[in-house]
This record gives sequence, structure tokens and C-alpha cells, in this order.
Amino acid sequence: MSVIYLDNNATTRVAPEVFEVMRPLFEELYGNASSMHSFGGQLGKYIAKSREQIANLIGALPEEIVFTSCGTESDTTAIMSALEVQANKRHIVTTAVEHPAIINLCQHLEKKGYEITYLPVDEQGRLDLFELKKSLRDDTAIVSIMQANNETGTIFPLEEIAQIVKEKGILLHSDVVQSVGKVPLDMSKMPIDFLALSGHKLHAPKGIGVLYIRKGTRFRPFLRGGHQERGRRAGTENTPYIVGLGKACELAKEHGKEDYARVATLRDLLEQGICKAVSDVKVNGDIANRLPTTTNMSFGYIEGESILLMLDQYGICASSGSACTSGSLEPSHVLRAMNVPFTFAHGSIRFSLSRYTTVEEINKTLEVLPPIVERLRLMSPFKK
Ligand code: PLP
Repeated sequence: MSVIYLDNNATTRVAPEVFEVMRPLFEELYGNASSMHSFGGQLGKYIAKSREQIANLIGALPEEIVFTSCGTESDTTAIMSALEVQANKRHIVTTAVEHPAIINLCQHLEKKGYEITYLPVDEQGRLDLFELKKSLRDDTAIVSIMQANNETGTIFPLEEIAQIVKEKGILLHSDVVQSVGKVPLDMSKMPIDFLALSGHKLHAPKGIGVLYIRKGTRFRPFLRGGHQERGRRAGTENTPYIVGLGKACELAKEHGKEDYARVATLRDLLEQGICKAVSDVKVNGDIANRLPTTTNMSFGYIEGESILLMLDQYGICASSGSACTSGSLEPSHVLRAMNVPFTFAHGSIRFSLSRYTTVEEINKTLEVLPPIVERLRLMSPFKK
């Protein structure tokens, strides 16, 4: 049975072009980029090229790109650096719908005596910028707000957020793990201090990330040790993955616009097809302002996990809430923050597409899903 992979917000397939450029770095060019000999030293130019490709995608300078192991590390490093360089500031502003990489770190910091403001969202997952303005204080060390939500795809107005936060001279971090390459982001025009990126959400491998640090921003490393990344992140450079991520960013820069316009059409086909065929279904998120890849749908009176298990029998992969929080039967913190009614929140499925998704796969899903929902509703104790 072939797999229909509609879980691209959890992770993506490595692009064949990315795999190809990585291969020689495993087979022949396996040296350590920090070595004195030329066999290792020659890798410096590969790393430099990747830095340029990434910088080019987001309108940054190559020296503002620091390689990390993942999005979580980049998020953590940005926040911890802000706290370390401003030891007298003990307040952080974030949103109630951030990824656990931020939420769990903030909850940990709360236990250590920091004060955290979790900005609420409305029923469509949108922020109230007036609330953001009100939340900023003299002792706010950093504001951390994602560009796009991983569960619903809802996009926050980063430009306006940056304006509000930087007017007060406060550090601003944005988790752009889900949005980078999919929606525009130009750091030459946006005064954001830190960004977190992750390779495996844009067709590069798992285990490589980037922390963008704006030139001139005061910074302290989180991982100390060697002098790699100009002292900003210790650890031997993961050269093959760095090269792969550079290529993935180049592909996103060259083809992203057309790719994601097509993906949005397929996403809409799926969403509209489901809404037509199934009753008591609700789309979660800001429909007018979402990632082109994502739809989060609640099927009333049934459990999302049951739908997933039945879709799995047809080789269809999706997710209930965030991949990182599934395993728990509680509705996700994102849907709870949006006040999605209990009987709907439990039946939420996230479908996330990629440039490899085909119309045949969408049609197959549209054929399979409605009878599954019908069958589960007949067994449901919550049925109307
Ligand atoms: N931030 C967001 C918005 C995410 O969706 C994810 C992964 O799901 C992460 C951070 C964590 O990235 P990584 O898996 O590279 O640590």
C-alpha cells in the first residue's frame, strides 16, 4: 500500500536534490571543517555557500546565520541569550499558542522566578495587538511570537508585531519553523532580532536548524565548548546537513511561490470536499490568513485519534493537533486557547500538504474520509 503523506507540519520528505548534494559529504568529503589540514578545511567553502543560500531566502546577511541542531535549540538559545545579557529583566512575553519548544521553556523559567505573559488569541487563533502593546514593560527581556502556527497554520502579522515591540527597544524573537520558505520573510525590512528555523520542515533532514541573530544584537551562546560558528554555537559542524539545508533554502527561494500556490489549491480542494461531504465539521484557524499547506478541521462528536487510526489503514498519514503533543488525549493547548468547543476540539485533525502532494492523493482522501466519519459517529457516545 502506498503512503499518502498529509503530515508535512510534523516533518517533510528530504528533497531528492537535497539528498544529492549531501551524498559526497558522507562518502568523500567527511573531514572536520575546523581541522588545520586542507582535507577538512576545504569544507569551509561548502558551509559558507549554505549560509549564503539561507541568508538569501530570508533577506539576511550570511554572518547572521548560525547553525544549530534543530528548531528547539534555536528557540531556546534566543530566549536564554536575552535573559543572560539582561540579567535585571525578568519578564517574557509570548503567546498561548506557541510550539512546546517555547511554551515548555517558558513554564520552566516561570518555576525559576521569571514572569511570563501568554498573550491570548481569539476563536480564529488571531492575536490582539492592543494586548501585545499593553503587555510590554520596562523589565520585559524578550518577546517571542511565532510567524505561523504549526497546528492551524494561522499567520501572525509579524511586521506590525515588530513595529510595536521595537518601538519599546525590546528584543524580539520569532519561531519561523513552519513558515520559512512558504510565506514571505524579508529580514532586511523587518527589525526582528532572532529567528528559529528547522531543516526538516522544508525538505532538508531532521537534526539541523538555524538561529538567525541580527548583526549587532547582544548575544551569549547556549552551547559552550569549541569556537565553531564564530563562538556562537559550539559543536563540530554537521557539514552534510548544513549543505542540505542550504540547498533546501535555494529550492524554496527558486520555486516556493509557484509550489505553494499549487499546494494551497490542493489544500482548498481537500477542505471544501470534506465540508461538502461531512456534516458538523469546522475549520480551525484564520482561514483568510493561513499557511498554504495547512488545514485543521474538527469533526464534531468523534475523536481525532479514532479518525487517524482508520485513515492509517488506508496509508493516509495526518495528525491530531501537534505531532509533538499527540499521545495525550487532551485537546491541544492551541485549540483550547481558541476556545474550540469540547465536542469539536476532541475530533480535530491536521492535514498538512507539501509540494509532493498530488491531486490523486487528495481525491483518495476525499473518497475514504467521509465514510470513516459516518462509521465513527454511529458508534459515538457524544452523538447529538
Ligand atoms: N517550532 C515549531 C513551530 C514547530 O512546528 C516545531 C516542530 O514541530 C519546532 C519549533 C521544533 O523544531 P525541531 O523539531 O527542529 O526541534
